[in-house]
Amino acid sequence: MKTYIVGNWKLNFTVGESSIYLHKLLKKVPIIRDVEVVVAPTALALQPLSLQIDRHKMKLAAQNAFYRDYGAFTGEISFEQLRGLVDYCIIGHSERRHILGEDDKMIQKKVAAAIRNKITPILCIGETESERSFGETADVIRDQLIGGLTDVSEEDLGKVIIAYEPVWAISSTKASKPATPDEIAEVVKLIRETLKETYGAKVAEETPVLFGGSVNPSNAGAYLTVPGVNGLLVGGASLILGEFTDIIDIAKRVKS
Ligand code: PEP
Repeated sequence: MKTYIVGNWKLNFTVGESSIYLHKLLKKVPIIRDVEVVVAPTALALQPLSLQIDRHKMKLAAQNAFYRDYGAFTGEISFEQLRGLVDYCIIGHSERRHILGEDDKMIQKKVAAAIRNKITPILCIGETESERSFGETADVIRDQLIGGLTDVSEEDLGKVIIAYEPVWAISSTKASKPATPDEIAEVVKLIRETLKETYGAKVAEETPVLFGGSVNPSNAGAYLTVPGVNGLLVGGASLILGEFTDIIDIAKRVKS
């Protein structure tokens, strides 16, 4: 299976800055077989960057999209409009769940819309600090996973990526603290067990599961060797050229 390194730029970089950053990134990153590098810029930059990007080296992701293809939905962008521009879309990021009020029902519709439009959803799931402290991690993970994948067939699950992102480990969360490899391993195991119950062992094994939360060049190697982890979703460090390229380099080394 490929290793995925996904940079989520969030609400950072203007269109011009995004283009300059991508230009520098393309110069530094070679074509790496088995490591899929993906960047998720602001929606405004997707069109120009889709013309600039070298798809042999890296792919584009949207950070979000709406579940209906067209219609009276002021301010939204649909997966149909993104078709051809991006290969991936981040769905259900904790910032969208907790700041923008997205629930599992909406997230499930977005996952279905992405698949319908041939865009690979990167479905983010993860518990908050208080959910973990109340011993609710397993329930939250199962609910978000099953909730997000309702109506996804066994065949379509092959087109989905799961990202485990404990909210308490995300660098911008107040008092965030990095997760330990053991904490990650335990939840990734639970994710695969839950997938196995619904879709069977083969599909559960073949679904890429990424980890995200304060990833940087000093912990990327340890996180990438956690059993069952197939890549990293990187926020803050993906905005720093040297850090992001170091993480890509580490992924390449771990892979070989
Ligand atoms: C994220 O929010 O998806 C993320 C992983 O952020 P950071 O790497 O900054 O913790």
